[in-house]
Amino acid sequence: MSDRFEAKAVTGFCRDCLASPLATPDTAARLKARCAVCGSPRLRFHAEWRDLTIAHIDCDAFYASVEKRDRPDLRHRAVIVGGGERGVVAAACYVARAAGVRSAMPMGQALRLCPEATVFPPTMSKYSAVSRALRRRFLALTPLVEPLSLDEAFLDLTTPAHATGIPAALLLANLAREVEANLGITLSIGLGANKLLAKIASDLDKPRGFALIGRAEAANFLAPRPVSLLWGVGKALAAALEREGVRTIGDLAAREPMWAARRFGQIGLRLSEFARGHDRRRITPDRPAKSIGAETTFRQDRTRLEDLSDALRPLAETVARRLQAADKLAAGVTVKLKSADFVQRTRSTSLPTPTQEAADLWHACDALLRAETVRGGFRLIGLSCDRLIDAGETGPLGLLAPQTSVTQE
Ligand SMILES: [Mg+2]
Repeated sequence: MSDRFEAKAVTGFCRDCLASPLATPDTAARLKARCAVCGSPRLRFHAEWRDLTIAHIDCDAFYASVEKRDRPDLRHRAVIVGGGERGVVAAACYVARAAGVRSAMPMGQALRLCPEATVFPPTMSKYSAVSRALRRRFLALTPLVEPLSLDEAFLDLTTPAHATGIPAALLLANLAREVEANLGITLSIGLGANKLLAKIASDLDKPRGFALIGRAEAANFLAPRPVSLLWGVGKALAAALEREGVRTIGDLAAREPMWAARRFGQIGLRLSEFARGHDRRRITPDRPAKSIGAETTFRQDRTRLEDLSDALRPLAETVARRLQAADKLAAGVTVKLKSADFVQRTRSTSLPTPTQEAADLWHACDALLRAETVRGGFRLIGLSCDRLIDAGETGPLGLLAPQTSVTQE
């Protein structure tokens, strides 16, 4: 057990050779400091680095990094993953990002910004395989792994850090090093006192990042940042908070929790805790997804059946890709429509064969749509899959997917 004075002293560690504890240069010298053991400049100094155990790990430009790994000649060149019928950027490497390319940007726009980019169509089976290899490494560290997507997860390292006496920061630095060497992709790591802080931290230092947000600094760190940074604050809630004069996280922390509870209910109370840097959410391993879906809000309301049907195609492709990524087959689909005056209706059906193919999803959903009386304008259409079953761990995904057999009952 470290004593009180030792716990407060700022020390550091080397992300490359894991030397620790490194003595503290003064604040100004810290940026230029190099590891006394290996000479690396990749050092981290933090008063709480040995005590923080909740991590958020996010791969850097994941799909693009996997493609680059397999094409070393493109290492320093712009790579974009995307295209296909949907025609948008699924991932852009940091070279392409420097030219202004962003995820979800139309491909045409991306290539105008970065005409020299090499474009790859997404190969989900390949990304899933890397994701599984990554997850195995997470699970070797701790059973408390909560995946958020193919390339992102929370890890609770409290128990392994206590059991081994090795601080979580070093376990994570070692993980990042090993993943780079053996999987050929890079990670950004956020280490914090809780999930909220870890998630924010992983975004601070990308790519190849390692950022820490401790208990003592949490409230001050959060205060000047926009309230939309908090988990659960979307556009609508951010606008409602702003109408109440709450723009920054500090604005919210300055209000009584009871004010937030009266005004916004349960979520208000939770946000009020977040604003003070507190987050009691646990890391819940392997929460299986109950449904996988996607939706589109139209810029202008759509009234024609054919226009609505057109909007289903890219949704079917997105959802199929997500099913493939999650290694799931869907046995049921639902179409959701929201009218111009916000009235929502849903229609569901069973699929003739469980599937993860876009064409199958689209056929079923198009039939649901055509059975619907379309009158007036619609502002949103959604497609989701439920009754998900495991596609299995073996073999390439494309071969596992059942062939289309449209035997409508
Ligand atoms: Mg990522």
